[in-house]
Amino acid sequence: MVLILSVFSFGLGACIASFLNVVIWRVPRGESIVSPPSHCPKCGAPIRWWQNVPIVSWLALRGKCARCRAPISPRYVLVETLGGCLFLAVLRMVAAALPQSPDVSMLLSHAVFAFVMWTWVSLMIVGSFIDYDHKLLPDFVTVGGMVLGVAHGAFQSAVFHSVFHVLYSVAGLAFGFGLLWLVRFLGSKAFRREAMGMGDVFLMGAVGALFGPVAVLATLVLSSVVGSVVGVAMILLSKTRLGSFAEIPYGPYICLGCLAWMFYGPELVSMYIGLFK
Ligand SMILES: [Zn+2]
Repeated sequence: MVLILSVFSFGLGACIASFLNVVIWRVPRGESIVSPPSHCPKCGAPIRWWQNVPIVSWLALRGKCARCRAPISPRYVLVETLGGCLFLAVLRMVAAALPQSPDVSMLLSHAVFAFVMWTWVSLMIVGSFIDYDHKLLPDFVTVGGMVLGVAHGAFQSAVFHSVFHVLYSVAGLAFGFGLLWLVRFLGSKAFRREAMGMGDVFLMGAVGALFGPVAVLATLVLSSVVGSVVGVAMILLSKTRLGSFAEIPYGPYICLGCLAWMFYGPELVSMYIGLFK
């Protein structure tokens, strides 16, 4: 049963991510995500369904178009593998949080939580890659994440007859949005230029709406640590000027920080406390 569910979530994640690849490519270019059907950008050959099986097809075709042998970016298979792994990680996280003998409302609450988390990791994949390519975060990712978080809080409040969940969600949204807005405001004053986009502020609002105020602080710290390490490495490797440091979009780091908090939150907290012992 566990094995079937695991294979199912990995497969589902890879299939969804295969669609996310289309979204990542087409949405910023203002193209429709349904038509025309997938085709080779070089020779225009339509991609048949058996050539569109996530991960497997790319490996079987050795990363080349079946007709003209034009190379297909390994990023497609990377995004599909990432989708599969994150969907599986969500399933494991939700299963681990399930009590020994759950009642109906507990099962319902966890099933909805899994669905919300699958949606959220999908939004983060799309947001990260679009931000990396185009330095913009689409509203359906950031505002969508905020709506998803508050709706999820309201649902859990209804299931458990407690106003706590929805209030925690709204408080998280306000805290995440407010904190990043302040960072952005102070950053613009210090650097006399736009230090980060409003998209990042909205994205942190979504993190707060989904996971609450504590997760906002953790995500801010984690994303800054990862961002600094990568930033310093890039400056050292490519001798980039410090001035272009701010050009690296912040969105993917927020997502990385959020993922670390989602899957390793308790471990990270005890590690942090351990630093002062
Ligand atoms: Zn081709």
